[in-house]
Amino acid sequence: MNGSTRLLYTSLNFPEAYPEDLPLALDTALTYLKGVGPARGAMLQSRGLETVEDLINYFPFRYEDRSNLKTIAQLAPGELATVIAEVRSTKVSGMRRRNIGLFEAEFTDASRAIVLGKWFHGAYLADRLLPGTRVALFGKIEFDSYRGEMQIMHPELEYLSGDDDEADSALHTGRIVPVYEAAGKVNTRAIRVLVHRVLQEIAEVEDHLPESVRSFLKFPGRAEAIRAAHFPPPGTPVRMLNEFRSPAQFRLIFEEFFWLECGLEIKRQRARLMPGIQFSLSDRVREQIKKLLPFKPTGAQKRVLKEIADDMAKPCPMNRLLQGDVGSGKTIVGAEAAVIALENGYQVAILAPTEILASQHYLSLKPLLNKVGYEAALLTGSFPAREKAKLKEMLRTGLIRVAIGTHALLEKDVEFDNLGLVIIDEQHRFGVMQRLGLVQKGVTPDVLVMTATPIPRTLAMTIYGDLDISVIDELPPGRKKILTKHYPSDQVELAYSAMRQEVDAGRQAYVVYPVIEESETQAMKAAQQMFEHLSAEVFPDIPVGLLHGRLGSGEKEAAMEAFKTGRTKILVSTTVIEVGVDVPNATVMVIEQAERFGLSQLHQLRGRVGRGGEQSYCMLITEKLSDTGKERIRTLVDSQDGFVIAEMDLKLRGPGEFFGTKQSGLPSLRIANILRDPDILSAARNEAKAFVERPPSPEAFSRAVIYIKEHWQRRYGLVQVG
Ligand code: ADP
Ligand code: MG
Repeated sequence: MNGSTRLLYTSLNFPEAYPEDLPLALDTALTYLKGVGPARGAMLQSRGLETVEDLINYFPFRYEDRSNLKTIAQLAPGELATVIAEVRSTKVSGMRRRNIGLFEAEFTDASRAIVLGKWFHGAYLADRLLPGTRVALFGKIEFDSYRGEMQIMHPELEYLSGDDDEADSALHTGRIVPVYEAAGKVNTRAIRVLVHRVLQEIAEVEDHLPESVRSFLKFPGRAEAIRAAHFPPPGTPVRMLNEFRSPAQFRLIFEEFFWLECGLEIKRQRARLMPGIQFSLSDRVREQIKKLLPFKPTGAQKRVLKEIADDMAKPCPMNRLLQGDVGSGKTIVGAEAAVIALENGYQVAILAPTEILASQHYLSLKPLLNKVGYEAALLTGSFPAREKAKLKEMLRTGLIRVAIGTHALLEKDVEFDNLGLVIIDEQHRFGVMQRLGLVQKGVTPDVLVMTATPIPRTLAMTIYGDLDISVIDELPPGRKKILTKHYPSDQVELAYSAMRQEVDAGRQAYVVYPVIEESETQAMKAAQQMFEHLSAEVFPDIPVGLLHGRLGSGEKEAAMEAFKTGRTKILVSTTVIEVGVDVPNATVMVIEQAERFGLSQLHQLRGRVGRGGEQSYCMLITEKLSDTGKERIRTLVDSQDGFVIAEMDLKLRGPGEFFGTKQSGLPSLRIANILRDPDILSAARNEAKAFVERPPSPEAFSRAVIYIKEHWQRRYGLVQVG
């Protein structure tokens, strides 16, 4: 630590200056650092950077090898090089329209030679590259034979400011340089300077990774890894850095996954120690289950039911995720689990993400449960207060045995007499925390989470890592492939004539409009318009229904019922029908503006047809498509396998978007990336499991628990280590 870099804080900005002789602590606020006033502090904060610890864990997303620092006169064609130069002049040439022209800048340096920087569509640079501006240019050197000068096409550009001190300048050139995501106006360069200073000033970075794991995997220490990830030692292969596989990066990624998986594993272990209900699987229970079944279960259904029944018979609470592609027959499995609980004298709660879906579950489960002598009650938020109060009272006293509802069932004032099983139809719209809300009521009931969107393995490991997983990987027999076709919007008539044919043959059709989460109103209007257009102009002779989220719950049910019973032949809808709707006579699914849906969502929608024995069709109508757009539509036309589609969706949209909602329960990771690092995730999960199951010592284990609680619980959200 030397004097010249001791410039971290200033008493000008803050009355309580950071004591000069104390090393920086990890929890020191960034606003104490020199050059970070309230404005910059706020920008950093908007990226989640509040403390020194946040900052040193804010890793570059890319690296540039600027170790080949040359003067312009030294440049040779073909090499990758960095020069520090000054703008002499600029011009836009080529196209007439300014914004698509070629922008050219002449740069010069002390060697007096000239290098040209050229950017297509670069006119926006005119305001920034004013003559005299000092920059670092990095890129592949070429020879412009027309001008007789060296040139760089689309060089990486970094603006150098006059007030940089010497030490700082050396940070940005002549080495492998980290490139950071800017935080507001705090650009990569400013962040680089901050990180560098902080790393020099910091007291120490403790290494919490258990010694057993560290030495087994021959990892560098945490402090060393952090430094090397920000400022790689000379000679580190840049490609390896950009693939995030340097030893330092590997360790940091591994570490992040390790704590996440440890947290999940500890949670699982704790859950297994909690007293739960030991349901008995008597002959009578088996008889009742048999009575329930309207058909012969598939092998996969039998297998997952056994997994569920075994869990329920154990004295600890069940925490199981049931995954199965759309149409694979999850409902009946859920009903079977419900019967086990009911026959043992317990109540069952079934939660759905929307009112429509809750009433769908109600409609399909009610007859099944009636068959074995049980009544179910629907309880949703839109019921009149008086009715709700009555239902709640009946739940509390145990008169209602099965309650089906939305998250209204999670409200604090809902009490159960003896809740034994909670079935959550997740559809990714429930926060995992909400799940806990219900489970913490009274005793610990068994929990079965069902999801219709197949979840790629890596996501399942991170989001549902605390649950046991069952998969229905087989469709009921006799299912035909749904023929999927793509029509550009100017050929929509073709889709309509196919629709008419099917309706004439006695079948039914859906026409669906996208809902972008913020604009349900807009989608509703579009659906409304389409409804009027279709019913008045295209199919004046066919009864058409309309369903969207803004209808009152009575109207929704009426619209569903009319379609179910076949009184309406065509149902125009927003994505409210995405999940759970089951009308086997419907054979056509027309999806308008399909380019605006996620792949998994399209697959879900498509799964609304093909539920009976007839050949079914899905028609994707799109406006103009981007290249990725085309690839997405092609995936869907070609594949019916929800897992394949989910993997592709994850790849094309990234984990954050996958669930199409912000509150997806995804942990926020700092350097790890489940798309890029599935292999490290698996390795970390194995190590974490081994560590939790057989900790090297009780002390090492309790240290880990404390560390996770203090450092990761908030971050990962879902990790309630207990
Ligand atoms: P999911 O909820 O998994 O999308 P459902 O439970 O709604 O699927 O089942 C889809 C359709 O398949 C329903 O009409 C259901 O009655 C039917 N089905 C489910 N299991 C079987 C089976 N083993 N044999 C025949 N049909 C089945
Ligand atoms: Mg149990």
